[in-house]
Amino acid sequence: MRYISTRGGAPALTFEQAMMTGLATDGGLYVPETVPTLTTDQIAAMAGQSYEQIAFTVMRPFIGDTFTDDEFRAMIDRAYAGFGHDARAPLVQLAPNHFLLELFHGPTLAFKDFAMQLIGQMFQASLTRSGERITIVGATSGDTGSAAMEAFRGLDNVDVFILFPHGRVSEVQRRQMTTPVESNVHALAMDGDFDDCQAMLKDMFNDTAFRDGVRLAGVNSINWGRVLAQVVYYFSSAVSLGAPHREVSFTVPTGNFGDIFAGYIAKQMGLPIADLVVATNQNDILHRTLETGAYTKEGVTPSISPSMDIQVSSNFERALFYAYDGDGAAVAAQMDDLKSGGFEISQGAYQYLRDTFTSGRASEEETSSAIKTYLAKHGELLCPHSAVGVHVAEDHLGATPMITLATAHPAKFPDAVNAASGIKPPLPPRMADLYDRDERVTRVANDFDAIATLIKERIAL
Ligand SMILES: *Cc1c(COP(=O)(O)O)cnc(C)c1O
Repeated sequence: MRYISTRGGAPALTFEQAMMTGLATDGGLYVPETVPTLTTDQIAAMAGQSYEQIAFTVMRPFIGDTFTDDEFRAMIDRAYAGFGHDARAPLVQLAPNHFLLELFHGPTLAFKDFAMQLIGQMFQASLTRSGERITIVGATSGDTGSAAMEAFRGLDNVDVFILFPHGRVSEVQRRQMTTPVESNVHALAMDGDFDDCQAMLKDMFNDTAFRDGVRLAGVNSINWGRVLAQVVYYFSSAVSLGAPHREVSFTVPTGNFGDIFAGYIAKQMGLPIADLVVATNQNDILHRTLETGAYTKEGVTPSISPSMDIQVSSNFERALFYAYDGDGAAVAAQMDDLKSGGFEISQGAYQYLRDTFTSGRASEEETSSAIKTYLAKHGELLCPHSAVGVHVAEDHLGATPMITLATAHPAKFPDAVNAASGIKPPLPPRMADLYDRDERVTRVANDFDAIATLIKERIAL
């Protein structure tokens, strides 16, 4: 199994190389050269299996000989052992043909734990084998940073630095980043907003001396290893509703397009998925693109579902690659046009995207109102991101069972949930002491040299 760049101008890599590299040298994203398929019998055999068993069957064809079967099974087991629910990704019923896939039982209460916990294990195994040590720097508006620190804390060959905008993440998100006691994880509260943090990260990757000096690596959502880990719960949930003998549909609260793209891969692998519905908040670039065929940047307006507040959706490039039938030059040309504000998708590619994805958006009022209604009518307290999902899903309910992905626990966004429902959701008992733990955080200015020096000093210790 080889991985190729969506822009067609970088060398093909193994799974391990693609995972450790992140972005391709031509600026593209790695995708598998061919998507392996599972037979109907293989999918049918997943009925009644554990999440871990299904995970092994789904991901094994993608990893080539990077790990032995025994090694890979052990990593999967370790990755999900810390989850607060035996099913890992339980499915609950909301209405006659509408189901909620709870992806928030991991250690930081958001779906990002599914991928981050596993790539933590895979990075560790790979680095132990090569004897290398790396520095992961990430920028976060909240969920990615806490999931990364949780996944990598205490690992031997990795230091993790997370930049988050000072004063602009929720208290739960901040505490999840500032309370781990392990000395290899470092929370940096930077002056500025999330875009400033992302720009800082970009500068670090563009500074060759710094990048090579600290052996910089990234774990943002374009990492193929993260996409792969998310394919699994499409299978586990669909099978529990009767796949492969019965079709299901999915609605996915979407920001960077990583999660919904994993659903697309599940479908390519042979899972009978009828609709893949992209749900956006008021930052609706993806919904507008699917409606019009034009991908045009607008500014970001902060919302109550902040993990979906994006201006450009990085993983959408992977969908474009398939829409252009693997034509890397065409994808590269479109991405070049994006620098000047946007691009028009060609007729054939646009038709492919329309046939593959549908979409909808939820305004702020619709999101709050969904939180309120689903509590009253369905007994389910939703986080604002999941509320965007159920609102959009309602337009697509029909004979096929609909599964909406619940991407975070309501307790992670207590203020928005409280404002909409009048209830301040409590943290799960296993992390109820989060508010009592000591915090460890370094306040930093929006200053490249200062942050670079701090990182170099810390890793020399
Ligand atoms: C990251 C995130 C999303 C968006 O997922 P993408 O893969 O970026 O589309 C949605 N909800 C929550 C809670 C998130 O943390």
